[in-house]
Amino acid sequence: MNFADYKGIWVYIEEKEGSIAPVSLELLGAGRQLADKRGVELAGVLIGHGVKHLDQTLFEYGADTVYVYDAPIFDHYRTEPYMYALLDCCQKYKPEVILYGATPTGKDLASAVATDLPTGLTADTTMLDIEEDTGLLLASRPAFGGNIMATILCKKYRPQMATVRPKVMTALQPQPGRTGKLVEESILLREEDVRTKVLEVVRETTKKVRIDEADIIVAGGKGMGSKEGFQLIHQLAEVLGAAVGASRDVVEAGWIGHQHQVGQTGVTVTPKIYFAIGISGAIQHLVGMQNSGLIIAINKDPNAPIFQACHYGIVGDAFEIVPLLIEHFKQA
Ligand code: FAD
Repeated sequence: MNFADYKGIWVYIEEKEGSIAPVSLELLGAGRQLADKRGVELAGVLIGHGVKHLDQTLFEYGADTVYVYDAPIFDHYRTEPYMYALLDCCQKYKPEVILYGATPTGKDLASAVATDLPTGLTADTTMLDIEEDTGLLLASRPAFGGNIMATILCKKYRPQMATVRPKVMTALQPQPGRTGKLVEESILLREEDVRTKVLEVVRETTKKVRIDEADIIVAGGKGMGSKEGFQLIHQLAEVLGAAVGASRDVVEAGWIGHQHQVGQTGVTVTPKIYFAIGISGAIQHLVGMQNSGLIIAINKDPNAPIFQACHYGIVGDAFEIVPLLIEHFKQA
């Protein structure tokens, strides 16, 4: 494999119902830094149906080139058609790096592409850098239960690939009117050649605030004592218009679903305000919320590690303090 043939940083652009996933714009921000350091171009790869017009947004967020595969066969995400399109693009234009959001779609597509190319894949990356002269990607992620950061290298293959957690990179300020090169591509693939069909799309109808999009998160831990005690977390979230978060121990106890779990094996969140109530502050939890704008901890143990990570801490019993907060915010 001649590494000199592989040039450029790519971001797989995730699109759903006409909108670009925020993580893709964050990755363009991270990719821009890598591309500038290497002196190579930054490209977005956009696959879908009726998506071509999104190119301008991608240029404004930092892409130099946008490769588009726009056809009815890409109407809903399915592994095979998307994988074939991306493989086709890789074979034609040979990138040195491809970044994907660590979302269900990004994880699925990246692992399928990695197997077929074949190349390596670093999953759930939280830090990225690149060696200026060799182009070696330094993809770091928590390992050994979050106790160390492991930097994973792909020395033998190209492209180097990583999935990156949402909300850990920062999108650039868009530059209105910034333009770039649009490259329209296609593949020959018939519907009957694809083994999966989308029979029905069921939309989530909950009015509850999504944890990955919330400005305020009220998160509860094992200190809430029981599923009934955890209702106080829901009540405080309700009066604040906040999303509910939880530690892994709470999820494992069955008090709330896994989609609410914050941390290393849950979601990474960066709300403006994060309440950590009855949460001890284990490293595996902290890695998922430590970049929140303002962290307010309530814990009855003054030595709980969460107090090292918060901006404001209240030492006391959640069952006394949270009802007071609910009353206060109801009247505010
Ligand atoms: P505890 O550690 O039991 O803490 C409960 C806290 O509540 C204590 O600090 C206590 O002082 C306080 N408290 C008790 N009663 C009250 C009261 N009445 N009022 C106020 N405070 C009170 N954890 C995650 O959260 N997310 C992850 O993604 C995650 N991934 C992991 C991955 C691996 C590989 C491993 C090994 C662990 C992972 N964990 C994760 C688990 C993590 O190590 C901790 O066990 C977990 O975060 C602890 O949850 P907790 O803080 O709710 O419970």
